[in-house]
This record gives sequence, structure tokens and C-alpha cells, in this order.
Amino acid sequence: MVKFNIIELENEISIDEYMEKYNDVEKFLGYCEACPNYSKTWSCPPFDFNVEDFLKEYKNLKIIGKKIEISESENERGMEIQTDISDDKINRDIENKIGKIEADKQVGVENKAKEAKAIEKKYSEDIEIKKEMIKKELEYQKKSVLGELLELEKQDPNIRALSMGRCTECEICTRQEGKDCRNKDKMRYSIEALGGDVVGITQDLLHHEIKWSKGNEIPEYFILVGGLLSK
Ligand code: SF4
Repeated sequence: MVKFNIIELENEISIDEYMEKYNDVEKFLGYCEACPNYSKTWSCPPFDFNVEDFLKEYKNLKIIGKKIEISESENERGMEIQTDISDDKINRDIENKIGKIEADKQVGVENKAKEAKAIEKKYSEDIEIKKEMIKKELEYQKKSVLGELLELEKQDPNIRALSMGRCTECEICTRQEGKDCRNKDKMRYSIEALGGDVVGITQDLLHHEIKWSKGNEIPEYFILVGGLLSK
């Protein structure tokens, strides 16, 4: 139904330049406060440490992006063509009936209305399935990148992974129960949680525009952005 094409994007910037051009804790903390996840997970603000001091411990930031292009699979196109043929056939059948008695005409109109409703219902169900598939793919990509970065961390104590978005390791974060993070070895902060301008970074350093979903409109791609800090 939905096909994904994954493109890897990468760039590197010094922490000094990053902090000057793309980090503004005060500004982005304001956006975080408006998010329903604010203070709900240990990977989201507010933090009990100074973000700027945390970033200044490092010299460089490698920006790691995943572009997830979305297209329809051949299968679905086939299904659409079949649907069209089927619609034509229904239309021809209806046309053949026109010219007969007025009652038949009325039945045709009602059938058409029912048909339109059925197509509309199927369309909205398809959109929901597509959205769910995309959500799963994004989550899979996010976890697989974090897994790779955590492996690199194990080999080098001077690097630190930054997650692609908030931590989703546990179904309900222990922060909501006032308890310590139960998976500190897997929880990593995201660029945006640390006051990073992900839109600016994606445009200037990954040379792509961030796309958003609008209602039932699915963009042609999504971009996940994470990073790797190094001393
Ligand atoms: S690992 Fe679990 S407890 Fe820790 S921040 Fe993530 S969701 Fe919360």
C-alpha cells in the first residue's frame, strides 16, 4: 500500500557555530511548554541541568538526518485501476437503464449516492491505515538510528548521541509517576529538547525543507533529525 524510500543525510558543525546560529534555549523552551509532552518524559524539558553548559562540553555536532520518502506501492495503483474499471462498468449499467422508466432512473441516482458514500468511507479508512504505517516506519527508523549511535557511544566515551525526537522507550514514562528514568542507558535528549532549531538545521545543513502533515494530506516525505556530539 505505502512504499518507503530512505535517504541518509549528514553534515557536521562546530559547537561554537551551532550555538551561535541554531541554539536558543529560551526561544525553543517556549515552544516545548506548549507541547503536550512537556515535562512528561525525562528526555523533554524542563531539565535539572544547564543545557548550554552541557553542550559546551563538546566540540562538534554531527547532524544525522533520515529522509523518508513516501509513495504508493504498485499494488495499490493496480487496485485503483480496477476500481476505475469497476466504476465505469457501474456507470455504463446505470446509463443503460436511463431511458427506461422514471422509477429506474431514481434508483440509479440513489445507487450513485450510496456508491459515492462508500468510496468516501473507503478513502478515509485508507488514509488512517497509511498514517498508521507511516507512524510505525518513523518510529522504526528513529529507534534503529538511536541503536546505531548508542553502539558508537560504547566504543568512544567522548561522544554522545542525540535522539530523533523524544524518548518513547517505555509506554508510560516514569517521570509521570515521579520516579527516576528506568532506562538511562537508552534515553537520549533530542536536538529540539536542548533548544536546537531543527527547521533551520534541516534547511541550512541538510539542504531540505521540513514537511508537515495537514489534516488528511500526507507530504511526499518526512525528515527525522538526530545527532552525535563529540569532544
Ligand atoms: S526510557 Fe522510559 S523512563 Fe526513561 S525517559 Fe524514556 S520513556 Fe521515560
